[in-house]
Amino acid sequence: MDTKKVIRQHKEMNEFFSGGFTVKGAPRTAVPQTVFPHNDTNKAELAKIAAEVAHCCCCGLGKTRKNAVPGEGNPNAQIIFVGEAPGADEDEQGRPFVGRSGQLLDKIIVAMGLQRQEVFICNVIKCRPPDNRDPKPDEIINCIHFLETQLEIIKPEIIVALGAHAARTLLKTNDAIGQLRGKFLEYYTASGYGPIKFMATYHPSYLLRNYSDDNRRRVWEDMQKVMRELGMLVPKSSKKSS
Ligand code: SF4
Repeated sequence: MDTKKVIRQHKEMNEFFSGGFTVKGAPRTAVPQTVFPHNDTNKAELAKIAAEVAHCCCCGLGKTRKNAVPGEGNPNAQIIFVGEAPGADEDEQGRPFVGRSGQLLDKIIVAMGLQRQEVFICNVIKCRPPDNRDPKPDEIINCIHFLETQLEIIKPEIIVALGAHAARTLLKTNDAIGQLRGKFLEYYTASGYGPIKFMATYHPSYLLRNYSDDNRRRVWEDMQKVMRELGMLVPKSSKKSS
């Protein structure tokens, strides 16, 4: 074990909790090289899905969007982060989680010892609902097959659902996020592949609106469980869980 690295990570995680997801540098943890194997087939298949999403008008959101937001990241990711739907910044850029919530998600990913390009990030709905309203049931029904296909292609070790909407949609439940988060659940793809480990946690936008120590710690605890499951080195926080 690299003691200096672990000490640095502990220091950074202390700043993370006291300063609000301010992790300096990238505390590269012990991710085995085999975690991200190369597979060009996945890349090509994901590009095909992205092209289909870009031309899709299967629901009304296809008429109001500026840009479709299919998702992006490592075609062979072991972790997929799934949010609810694109917001204004994402609609402008055609990329997922690039606004304030995305900046916070980036910091969470860095705190885990990863880089954004090592994971895959997407949403349940691929086009922005006007005024950031909740997606309607028919929009989800029309769009969910894109996400299901992405999950089928990538076959991640772990799906991290960001927020209640993504967790409930994927798990087909109405349970509250407080009941769903913090423990590994199981997800099976549309073709029956699985179980894929499923961790729900708070959406970064919820965290920004409710930026308490307890909420930050809960998200970090959820991510620690993900890291442990993947055999990654987990720096400890100096504060105890509530
Ligand atoms: S939200 Fe999904 S189903 Fe609706 S137009 Fe966009 S890509 Fe198509």
